[in-house]
Amino acid sequence: MLQLPLQFLKGVGPRKAADLKKAGLHTVEDLLFRFPLRYEDRSRLQPIISVKPGHTVAVSGEVLHASLQTTRRAGFRLFTALVQDASGQVQAVWPNQAFLKDVIRPHQHIVLYGKAELWGSRGLQLTDPEFEIIRQPGPTLNTQRGSPSALAASDGDGHDVVTLHTGRIVPVYERTGSVTTNMQRALVWQALAQLPQTIFDPLPADIRLRERWPTRREALTRAHFPDADTSVDALNLFQTPAQRRLIFEDFFVYQTGLALRRQQNAQVRKALVSRVDDKVRQAARAVLPFKLTTGQKQALAEIVADLQQPWPMQRLLQGDVGAGKTIVALLAAMVALENGFQVAFMAPTEILAEQHFGTLSKWLASTRYRVALLSGKITAAERRTLLPAIARGDVHLVVGTHALVQDQVRFRALALAVVDEQHRFGVMQRALLAAKGLSPDVLVMTATPIPRTLALTECGDMEVSVIRGLPPGRTPVRTLVKPDSRRDDVYDLMRQHVQAGRQVYVVYPLVEESEKIDLKAATAMAEHLARDVFPELTVALLHGRMKGEEKESVMRAFAAGTLNILVATTVVEVGVDIPNATLMVVEHAERFGLSQLHQLRGRVGRGSHESVCVLLYQSPWSEDARERLRAMVDTNDGFVIAERDLKLRGPGDFFGTRQHGLPQLRAGDLTRDVELLELAFAEARQRVDNGTLTAAELAYVQSVWQRQFGLITVG
Ligand code: ADP
Ligand code: MG
Repeated sequence: MLQLPLQFLKGVGPRKAADLKKAGLHTVEDLLFRFPLRYEDRSRLQPIISVKPGHTVAVSGEVLHASLQTTRRAGFRLFTALVQDASGQVQAVWPNQAFLKDVIRPHQHIVLYGKAELWGSRGLQLTDPEFEIIRQPGPTLNTQRGSPSALAASDGDGHDVVTLHTGRIVPVYERTGSVTTNMQRALVWQALAQLPQTIFDPLPADIRLRERWPTRREALTRAHFPDADTSVDALNLFQTPAQRRLIFEDFFVYQTGLALRRQQNAQVRKALVSRVDDKVRQAARAVLPFKLTTGQKQALAEIVADLQQPWPMQRLLQGDVGAGKTIVALLAAMVALENGFQVAFMAPTEILAEQHFGTLSKWLASTRYRVALLSGKITAAERRTLLPAIARGDVHLVVGTHALVQDQVRFRALALAVVDEQHRFGVMQRALLAAKGLSPDVLVMTATPIPRTLALTECGDMEVSVIRGLPPGRTPVRTLVKPDSRRDDVYDLMRQHVQAGRQVYVVYPLVEESEKIDLKAATAMAEHLARDVFPELTVALLHGRMKGEEKESVMRAFAAGTLNILVATTVVEVGVDIPNATLMVVEHAERFGLSQLHQLRGRVGRGSHESVCVLLYQSPWSEDARERLRAMVDTNDGFVIAERDLKLRGPGDFFGTRQHGLPQLRAGDLTRDVELLELAFAEARQRVDNGTLTAAELAYVQSVWQRQFGLITVG
């Protein structure tokens, strides 16, 4: 029954089925796992006489009189009904719903739910209330008797009748296409009524009993049609046992899949296992340009331990902007190199790949290792010599974009792949490497600190190392928020920084939808700054549409210090490291996401000079934007920022795009249900590691994974 496609429910035609599908609802199970947005208490039926204006009430009674009335406004009609119970009468009014004249008729028994208002001479009135006819004149309409939930209304003759939309605690759903909340409620009701008495429960029974959670069937019923004595507040906080059980189940199934994938990965024997001895340690120490921080040491120790294991490492290295991840990756690379193996180092953009190539070459200059840059713009001839050199093992460390693993690049002995600033491609790259028959250790690095809940869901099959804190000697960046009207002050500040020998970034937002306009604005601003504001300084523009060489020459000039001001779209966002740049001006800061702002701010404060980040905003700005900029002033800690960003944006948008491979959880919410997620993570890992899940439980996980997440097979 739960796997039944939704079009088999009564009332679901092709159009509705299509709308539901678009919202990811294919089966009855999908529908039942789509929680209400909220719950409304329409259970307490009040005597009509006690109804007070301004209150939202539920009343029930007989329709005495119903009619469609025209008004003085042309084309505007009111449908009104007079409803009476034993205590009194109340008028219900529905504007512009003429069709109700065929629905609501005298002598029907009806339940109304809505806000009571005083309305001139008419007295008390319910405007546009929700309604439900619970008895037609004549034979009782009562097909739902015996359905799972408690009955909540009486038909006036002392019989209990089941109501769906009124007279109970009512679930309110988000509208999906043509499927209104009322329709969805009726569908859910129908589905629940058809559920067999016992259904398969993928949750291990001992967890359920320990947590005192209801059975799956009971939980599904109560999450949609709660018993009358359930606290509506608890429901709206998604804290009732029924809801928590289903949320947990959702997380547990997902986490079990991740744990299985991790286990599967651990069963792969890697071809190249590194060993660490004094010679290796010494060689690593010899390239180290400074003392590692405690956080760096800790992360490095974890990585190096993995390198010596016989199964491939899957590790995510998290660290705030400027935390110093690159040197940690390089030292890990040294271990592989000293063992006679090769290392691939991948960056998301050519600019970053070039920068890494520069840093790594410099750090490795005193060694015998050859570093090469395999970029998209090397000549065919260069490529023809480079590729065989890599295949022979003459090149030891190859730097490039992720084309590195997509290309026909062959390695002699690839032991470690470092993926910078691209955790979202980690999974894909692993798959690509595996497809080439390679099983290197994979180290994924990210400077967008990932809130713990997201790390658990997105990277739950990886191990996570975190570098907390920054290398010593950094002065925290000072952040100022200024309205656009104070632009002249900002120009003065820019001048001061340049006069002190420093450099300035001015960043423009570039949103895909308005890319052309944005680009024009950035270009115009660069010209304006160069010509009108700072004629005595050198100003250049950098944006993503420029050719590779152009971009590179601008970046090179800025890095060399020959440019004073760099006006850029967000291509400077990740990883760019120019310590002499001390002022970051963000135009239209109200349009950037919080994590993005933090990334941008991370471009300054990289040297010993005090740095400033000015966030210029244009009114009107939303409350969310205000909140974001406030957060930027409040803290420099990327992990704190990430948590706030998650709260503000929600998990779906955290990475700025829905293409990041975050699972579509059904009931669980990554901002609300942190503690259940932690529990599910721990339970799933432990049960998979100990092999205590039943075959049926595993099969269920497998089926959900394939359907829901469509990723690599598990188990
Ligand atoms: P991120 O973690 O953002 O990738 P980087 O690896 O680019 O940061 O490091 C930022 C800067 O800090 C670099 O210039 C790097 O050389 C420097 N750095 C890293 N670790 C240390 C350290 N332990 N002591 C001093 N400087 C360091
Ligand atoms: Mg970096």
